Amino acid sequence: MNQPNQPNDSQQPGQNSGHQGRNQNRPGNQNRNRSGGPNKPRSGGPRNNQGNRFSSPAGPKPSGRQQPPGRPPERGNRSSGPKGARPSMSSLMQSVAKGLTPDSKPAGGQMAAGPTSQPPASTLPSAGAPAPDFDNRDSGMLYPGSQFQSKSHEVKDRQSKLRIIPLGGLEEIGMNCMAIEYGQDIVIVDVGWMFPDETMPGVDYVIPDVTYLEKKKQNIRGVLITHGHLDHIGSAPYLLPKLGFPKVYATQFARALMEGPLEEHNLLNRVQWQTVKYSDILQIGPFRVEFFHVNHNIPEGMGLAITTPVGTVVHTGDYKFDETPVGDEPAEFEKIERIGREGVLLAMCDSTNVERPGHTVSEAEIGRNLDELIGKARGRIILSTFSTLIPRMQEALWSAAKNNRKVTIVGRSMLKNVEICQRLGYLEIPKDILVDSRNLKRYRDDELLVICTGSQANEMSALVRMSTGEHRQVVIKQGDTVILSSSPIPGNERSVELMMDNLFRLGADVMYSKMLDIHTSGHAYQEELKQMLTMLKPTHFMPVHGEYRKRVLHGRLANEVGVSPHNVHLLDNGRVLEVNHKGEVGMTKEKVVSGLVFVDGLGVGDVGQVVMRDRKHMAEDGMCVIIAMVDRRSGKLQGNPDIISRGFIYLRESGKLIQEMRDEVRKKFPKDGSKANHGKPHADFATLKAKLRDDIGDFLYQKTQRRPMVLPVILEV
Ligand SMILES: [Zn+2]
Repeated sequence: MNQPNQPNDSQQPGQNSGHQGRNQNRPGNQNRNRSGGPNKPRSGGPRNNQGNRFSSPAGPKPSGRQQPPGRPPERGNRSSGPKGARPSMSSLMQSVAKGLTPDSKPAGGQMAAGPTSQPPASTLPSAGAPAPDFDNRDSGMLYPGSQFQSKSHEVKDRQSKLRIIPLGGLEEIGMNCMAIEYGQDIVIVDVGWMFPDETMPGVDYVIPDVTYLEKKKQNIRGVLITHGHLDHIGSAPYLLPKLGFPKVYATQFARALMEGPLEEHNLLNRVQWQTVKYSDILQIGPFRVEFFHVNHNIPEGMGLAITTPVGTVVHTGDYKFDETPVGDEPAEFEKIERIGREGVLLAMCDSTNVERPGHTVSEAEIGRNLDELIGKARGRIILSTFSTLIPRMQEALWSAAKNNRKVTIVGRSMLKNVEICQRLGYLEIPKDILVDSRNLKRYRDDELLVICTGSQANEMSALVRMSTGEHRQVVIKQGDTVILSSSPIPGNERSVELMMDNLFRLGADVMYSKMLDIHTSGHAYQEELKQMLTMLKPTHFMPVHGEYRKRVLHGRLANEVGVSPHNVHLLDNGRVLEVNHKGEVGMTKEKVVSGLVFVDGLGVGDVGQVVMRDRKHMAEDGMCVIIAMVDRRSGKLQGNPDIISRGFIYLRESGKLIQEMRDEVRKKFPKDGSKANHGKPHADFATLKAKLRDDIGDFLYQKTQRRPMVLPVILEV
């Protein structure tokens, strides 16, 4: 079910949450009633379904957007009391009603305090604060203010527990996938993949093991997508069929990015979609799902507030806060604060950048720096960034227009995403600016800007091919400026450095983010992490998206802003965090099936630990095959054994070793077969093979200090 457009929640009264001073960066009291709100149509300019509009770089920014948090409001159009005053219960309730039921005035009884309506707290919950009592709910109104009262999910069973089960994303960066289960109902947050690391040779992608969900697929009510990065959507073509094609809830942009790969897997017509907007509030089984906008380095980043019969859990998705984003709105601070005021039992927040102090640089500042760089460059400009970093492309397009440069887009994923953005209105492309990469010769160098893929130096990407002189249309030369508007994803550093060296060798001037502020992360730094927690005021906290150390650090940060150390939960993938009707939260002893599933070519999951161990073994020491022909009756060796080496020694230059090896092999066979086998016609070849493998292995180690994989093959003749 989809709620019609909501009124702009920035108009709600009673914004002051009464805990100023805790955090200088705390947003909230300023006026964010930006022109029309995110869902009201505005005239002029391309717009997406979120109402995002791309203002021109020179044009005025909507007022009220750029005010940093913590400043007094410019205009006082809110009916809030004096600064710092706590909103009254009735004003709070009004605001909830306003936010949730725009079309119908709720009956008075509906607004009675329900499971999630706690009085606004002026401080963060203290350690061991009593959880709200959820047992006084016989009115049938589980979700105050929501028009979606699902009778079938009235909580009669007070035995059901809420179970939060991360299946990926807690021991690695990527592969994000989390199950949220209450009784017989499950929603899944994100279905991401991960790129393999150096311990996984030959693997294309890594997807989470969803055996647990497969067994309960009849209970799955939907997949909620927080945003369109591959580490949140990449597994969809592999997992949706296993999960019985549950309905996918995604924003327009995330959906558009998911459709291509699903089409390639011939699955697109099987997927049921529900395109969502930030303002939507959905009732999915017993889960009331409210979305809130956060900033990230892709359009339409969203967090989720999921109200369940035992309390509200919030999942931030990947996020940061940007007061001056490009082609996007700032995060919905008021909504997040309201959700916090209504009571958050458990928050799950992005830990990616917890090691970095301060605040991320705003996208607008990156845009200014890029513009300056583009303005100064004399020759051709080649700019590389992530293919989903649409704001960065937007900045480059605006700057190119300003500097009279034509733009060509190079790289398959970049072209595809630009096509999507053009079709759906996420990019403002100045008229006649795009040119075909095959026609570059028609323009002078100082009339060109190439936007391309390859900032991560992935094999076969456009910039890598340019750096090795293999790109047909763009040959790097003296005078070119290459701008890497990105930072290497962990694991890619060496390839990126190698590519940069190659570009320097070809005479290009390479600019990268270590030299200049030409890239900003999409993940919150410490101050933003604290800001989120200060707004949500969760009783319990579970850091997500990050390896163990990062989650520990994030837990400590949460303690600084008031979350009790006892209420920080560090789960690994497959562990279960349970919440009962008394509001008690804790990790169970259970460990559900979880782990990494390798995708290699067309095979999904067929490459397991054994295959991977062999691959690693062969990659490290090579292999050596011994082919021996044996008389079936006598067991005697016939002729000379054949030796084949791959990756172990170069046979032609190792004549002596080969000869010694053959002699060694010969020793393993009986000179007189009938004697060795006690007259039996069939030798025990399995034992013989094992002996050959072990003994020849030891012999080779003695001679070379290497342990190649030894594969004996015995042919009976
Ligand atoms: Zn992301």
